[in-house]
Amino acid sequence: MKIALLSRNPKLYSTRRLVEAAKARGHEIRVFDVLRCYMNITSHKPEIHYKGENLTGFDAVIPRIGASVTIYGAAVLRQFEMMGVYPLNESQSITRSRDKLRALQLLSRRGIGLPITGFAHRPDDIQDLIKIVNGAPLVIKLLEGTQGIGVVLAETQQAAESVIESFLGLKASVLVQEYIKEAGGADLRCFVIGDKVVAAMKRQARAGEFRANIHRGGIASLAKITPEERSTAIRAAKTMGLNVSGVDILRTNHGPVVIEVNSSPGLEGIESVTGKDIASLTIQFLEKNAQRGRTKTKGKG
Ligand code: ADP
Ligand code: MG
Repeated sequence: MKIALLSRNPKLYSTRRLVEAAKARGHEIRVFDVLRCYMNITSHKPEIHYKGENLTGFDAVIPRIGASVTIYGAAVLRQFEMMGVYPLNESQSITRSRDKLRALQLLSRRGIGLPITGFAHRPDDIQDLIKIVNGAPLVIKLLEGTQGIGVVLAETQQAAESVIESFLGLKASVLVQEYIKEAGGADLRCFVIGDKVVAAMKRQARAGEFRANIHRGGIASLAKITPEERSTAIRAAKTMGLNVSGVDILRTNHGPVVIEVNSSPGLEGIESVTGKDIASLTIQFLEKNAQRGRTKTKGKG
């Protein structure tokens, strides 16, 4: 296969590993900085150009699109889809999962366990919003944050009101969520490829912190997940339409709840903790599934 890998930095661990694994399995792979891809979107024959070269002949494209470049990255990926190139994850699924509110709405429609979550646009309704999630302590999240930035724990009603008020005052969209205390600062990252959880790890927040993100100092370790957690992760990935994803789950007194489905899950933590060759499993998924034009939306989404 001839594979295009969209990544802003070839030196990143995940990018390097995917390149290594593709080459080891006999494929040709090239890394493109998505922000340097440009295109003529009015042409009948969709094209993508890169530093003067017209990109042709690719069988598959692996998007590793950072949160800060979601819109442009998704447009480039959509252009690949219009050209019939098979995407590891489709542009529509990526934009869906990047918007926390939209993602949670889709998951709730399928009856997947979620923390009680509220969302409002006007500061007038804050009191009622707080009531919906059963009062403080509660978690407030910026709609498009990642790596734990923009996730705040408000311990009291007063703190909750003033944080929500200031976010809304800054015209930032936020969601308000029940705080899952019994998770004890830990979450589960389930790495899903196709319809399987291929690896899982537990992340534990450092002392005095409730966010388990590695970027916030969380420590990862091997996790044994229950059948219910496994099926929840697979259903969540399927609902988002992602072939490869990192599904984040909190363990509650009433079973697993999904907090997030990541469309570009990092490989470093999960490979080092589980010792599994996730990069190679990803390439093997493409080998089985990459066919020209075999996407749900064909770039129409
Ligand atoms: P991000 O996209 O920034 O990673 P998350 O929604 O995944 O945002 O939240 C970051 C971390 O905060 C999670 O990994 C989890 O440890 C913790 N967390 C998030 N939501 C809750 C919640 N409702 N209750 C308890 N802890 C939470
Ligand atoms: Mg997260």
